[in-house]
Amino acid sequence: MASTQNKNSDYHLALEKKYGAHDYHPLPAVLAKGEGVYLWDVEGKKYYDFLSAYSAVNQGHCHPRIIDAMKRQAETLTLTSRAFHNNKLGEYMEYTTNYFGFESLLPMNTGAEGVETSIKITRKWGHTVKGIPEGQAQIVVCDNNFHGRTTTIISFSSDPGSKNHFGPHTGGFIPIPYNDTEALAEVLENNPNIAGFLVEPIQGEAGVYTPDEDFIRKARALCTQHNVLLIADEIQTGIGRTGALLAVCGNCSCEGHCERQKDTYIRPDLLILGKALSGGAFPVSAVLADRAIMDVIQPGQHGSTFGGNPLGTSIAMEALKVVRDEKLTQNARKLGKIFREEMNRYIQDSSIVTLVRGRGLLNAIVINDSEESDTAWNICLRLRDKGLLAKPTHGNIIRFAPPLVMTEAQLRDCISIITTTLKEFETVNA
Ligand SMILES: *Cc1c(COP(=O)(O)O)cnc(C)c1O
Repeated sequence: MASTQNKNSDYHLALEKKYGAHDYHPLPAVLAKGEGVYLWDVEGKKYYDFLSAYSAVNQGHCHPRIIDAMKRQAETLTLTSRAFHNNKLGEYMEYTTNYFGFESLLPMNTGAEGVETSIKITRKWGHTVKGIPEGQAQIVVCDNNFHGRTTTIISFSSDPGSKNHFGPHTGGFIPIPYNDTEALAEVLENNPNIAGFLVEPIQGEAGVYTPDEDFIRKARALCTQHNVLLIADEIQTGIGRTGALLAVCGNCSCEGHCERQKDTYIRPDLLILGKALSGGAFPVSAVLADRAIMDVIQPGQHGSTFGGNPLGTSIAMEALKVVRDEKLTQNARKLGKIFREEMNRYIQDSSIVTLVRGRGLLNAIVINDSEESDTAWNICLRLRDKGLLAKPTHGNIIRFAPPLVMTEAQLRDCISIITTTLKEFETVNA
C-alpha cells in the first residue's frame, strides 16, 4: 500500500524519463483522471483543460454517452479487419457522409494516416483522371504546415526539427506561403502537373495562424479553375472547434447544422478528419470525398487492419451525435467571441501580450518576447499552478483550446485565471 502513496508525479516523470523515448517535452503535470472540462493529476489537483489533447477532446473528457457506446461495443465485437464486413461500418459511413455532405468515406485511425490516404487518392486521381504523366503528380502545400509525422508528411514540413536527418525526403510537393492566393494562382498557372492543394483552414500547430476571411474561398475557386483537388486537413479545426462544423465553412451562419447545399458553401474535394471524430476516446480518422474521386481506390490498393473497426466506428458515431445534440458548434462560436473580447480588453494595456487570434474556441495569444524565450513556457507553468493547463505551440505563442462543453461561467473563471497570471508576468518584466 505504501507504494501507491509513493506513486506521485515525480515517480511517473522519472519512469518516463528513464524508459521512454524522449520524443516529447511535456509540461510537467501527470494526469490521472478527466471529466468534461476538468483534469486531475495524481496528487488530486484539479485543472481546467485548455488544450483538449490538441482538439481531440472537443466533447469533453470521458463523455458518458461516448464511453457508454465504447463499453457496449467493447463487450460485443472490437475488430474483424476488412477481410470481412461488420454490422457497424455501413451505418457509420452513412451517418458520417450525410453529416458532412459527401458521398463516401475511407476509414483510417490516426490523423497522419488520413493525410497519407488523401495524398495517395490525390496522386492516383491526378495520374488516372486528370491525365498527369505517371509519377509526375505534384501537390501544393503551405509553409509552416502541420499534417503529421510520417516520412512523406515531414518531407514537406518547414520545421527543421521535424524534418532534418529523416531523409531521403519524398518529392512531389511544392510549398507556397500560407494565406497567399497570388502565390497559389501563380503556381497553378505555371504547372500543369498539379493534382491537389493540401491546406489547413487555420494553421493550428503554427500558432493558430488564422488566414484572411476569403483565403479558402479564393483557393477553392482557383482549384476549380485549374482542375486541382482542394484537400482540407480539418483534423484539428473540424467538428465544431472553430464555431462552424468545419473551418472551411468560415463564418457561414448555419452554425454547422444547415442542410448543406453543395453550391452554397465552401466544399473541399477531400476532407480529412481525425482527433475529435472520436471525442478523444480512440484513434479514428477518415477521408471523405465524392465517388468520382474516391473510386480511384479499388480493392487491394489501400487499407488498414484497424481502419473501420466496429469499436472505433461506434465511438465516432456517438461522438458526432454528441456534437449535434449538445450544440457544441454553437457553444464554441458564442464562447470564442467572449474569450477574444475579454482578452482584447486585457491586451489594450498589456505589455506582455501583443495579440489574440483565432476562431471559435481555437485561439492563441502571442507573447511579447522572442521565439527563443521561455516566457510562454513559464506562463504555462504558472497557469498550471493556478489550475489551468495550456501549452506553447512555439516559443512565444500559447494556444487556448478548451473542450467545447465548457459553460460561460467556467470560461469567465478561466479568463480570470489567465489574465491574473499574465499580469504577474507584466510586473516581472517591468
Ligand atoms: C494532429 C494533426 C495531424 C496528425 O494527427 P495524428 O493523429 O497525430 O497523426 C494532422 N494534421 C493536423 C492539422 C493536426 O492537427
